[in-house]
Amino acid sequence: RRRVTAATFDGRGMTRDGTEVELVANVADPAAAEAAAAAGARGVGLFRTEFCFLGRGEEPSIEEQVTAYRAVLSHFPDRRVVVRTLDAGADKPLRFLTPEHEDNPALGVRGLRTAVAHPDVLDRQLDAIAQAAAAESAEVWVMAPMVATVDEARDFAAACAAHGLEQSGVMIETPAAALQARHLLAEVSFASLGTNDLTQYTMAADRDLAGVAALSTPWQPAVLELVRVACEGGAMHGAPVGVCGEAAADPLLAPVLVGLGVTSLSMTPRALADVASTLAGVSRDECAELARTVLECSTAQAARDAVRERLLT
Ligand code: PEP
Ligand code: MG
Repeated sequence: RRRVTAATFDGRGMTRDGTEVELVANVADPAAAEAAAAAGARGVGLFRTEFCFLGRGEEPSIEEQVTAYRAVLSHFPDRRVVVRTLDAGADKPLRFLTPEHEDNPALGVRGLRTAVAHPDVLDRQLDAIAQAAAAESAEVWVMAPMVATVDEARDFAAACAAHGLEQSGVMIETPAAALQARHLLAEVSFASLGTNDLTQYTMAADRDLAGVAALSTPWQPAVLELVRVACEGGAMHGAPVGVCGEAAADPLLAPVLVGLGVTSLSMTPRALADVASTLAGVSRDECAELARTVLECSTAQAARDAVRERLLT
């Protein structure tokens, strides 16, 4: 079995029998992009743009945004970078965008929902992304956070197209989006599963609350079933469906996700080598078999144990 280490990771993910799985990085700002490129990542599956501007009282100017986005893109010449529009709210409030008093900010005006009250902010961000994309060689895809309806996806795609950004996609991080994937992907060209929020909203368990941590795992059968449905929806359109939540960084779960139909895994750069190693040890058929196995399990523990037994013994 091919062992991949941080030193030997060459940016490629492949099953034992040669099926390519895109392994890319999650980044938050230019410094993280530099570190990701240094770690061997050949692209970015999630650029969390809101992290460039946390703590700011005012909206960054278009020029300032262009500078920040170009700095990230510059580390990935000719590579794909998926730029997520501001995911403000809940655990990541932005003072210029997030409503001040909401009883349930995780269920409130966050992510793409802020574009209803502030379409101008989204417009200026897309302008900045388009300018950055024109100035750098990276292939820019644009993605909306916290999408729940087909109308949102359609409006977002139209806004992106108005700025000449042709590759637009949505995050699938609400159960509604997972269940509607086949309709969403008629409107946009790709999707990425945000398993952190998808788990939170599926299990109705705050992702940051220790008291519900046992519920908050993407191994939960209900979450894996939604991943399956989302991938099926993407496959109907031949559209890529990735994972950019923490689940992608779990070496035991990665082959399961591939078996469920996930086409790319985006993660913290330090997880890349371990995930590449696990994938190198399994065939495409074994991934499909692992997926069938977890879908038969009725508990998160049983699913994890079943995969561990197959992969580690
Ligand atoms: C997610 O929800 O899984 C995700 C990738 O987005 P974030 O963690 O930034 O909410
Ligand atoms: Mg999220």
